Amino acid sequence: MIDYHIHTARCHHATGTPQEYIAEARLKGLTEIGFADHFPLDLLNIIPSSPVSMSAEELTAYLEEIRELAEKNKDITIRLGLEVDYIPGRTEETADSFLSLPVDYLIGSLHFLGSWDFTHPAEKSTYLEKDLHELYENYFADMGKLCRSGLFDIVGHIDVIKKFGFLPQIHLDQLWLKTAKELKENDLCLEINTAGLRAPVKEMYPAPGFLQYCFQENVPVAVGSDAHSPQEVGYKIDDAIALLRKVGYREVATFIGRKRQMISLEGG
Ligand code: ZN
Ligand code: FE
Ligand code: FE
Ligand code: ZN
Repeated sequence: MIDYHIHTARCHHATGTPQEYIAEARLKGLTEIGFADHFPLDLLNIIPSSPVSMSAEELTAYLEEIRELAEKNKDITIRLGLEVDYIPGRTEETADSFLSLPVDYLIGSLHFLGSWDFTHPAEKSTYLEKDLHELYENYFADMGKLCRSGLFDIVGHIDVIKKFGFLPQIHLDQLWLKTAKELKENDLCLEINTAGLRAPVKEMYPAPGFLQYCFQENVPVAVGSDAHSPQEVGYKIDDAIALLRKVGYREVATFIGRKRQMISLEGG
């Protein structure tokens, strides 16, 4: 079992040391984990209203610490990743700050539309001011740009705009299919992320119908819990794998040095 989306206390909205996350992964019998803590927003020239990432000064220590822990804990495969915010234009302009790093994989995620952190519980009320149809169109337009940027290996929680349960009264199939095609055309890996089950929406990212389109378009998939506390490591990964099998997936993606390696779901 794999979990490729694990945070640490460095990002200011998670708890626990990397050692505690590793101990929990061992306890739950995970065979491979990847840390993907939030890349410093200051290096992307983003100053959020509350701190939600490590600072630029902490980046080197993060990379070194995870590498050292990977060396010391050989009974479990530990990969080094980062979750990088995508803001159209801004992320491209500052891309050298993360493309130059010796990581195994980069997750590209949307958390901001303009200066609005739409995933932050404190900024939830802003949804009430929005036309939801238009909001989803805008979100998926940015997602298309993220895909075409060519900067990332994995797209994080691809429909996280649904997090707080604000769903438009329209069929999302067209947006889903278009996005699935963008993933394939840009050789990106989808992430099945179980954090949505812990959010008000109570559904994984992506929605089952969206996952179906991704399978149909032959998009590879990686697996993550988006753990923000040690107990969340491996959270409902079994359910995620069961859903992947049901949809038709027979393998999942792992990464080393930003190269994708598919591993079989058969038997395991
Ligand atoms: Zn986070
Ligand atoms: Fe995220
Ligand atoms: Fe995350
Ligand atoms: Zn995340």
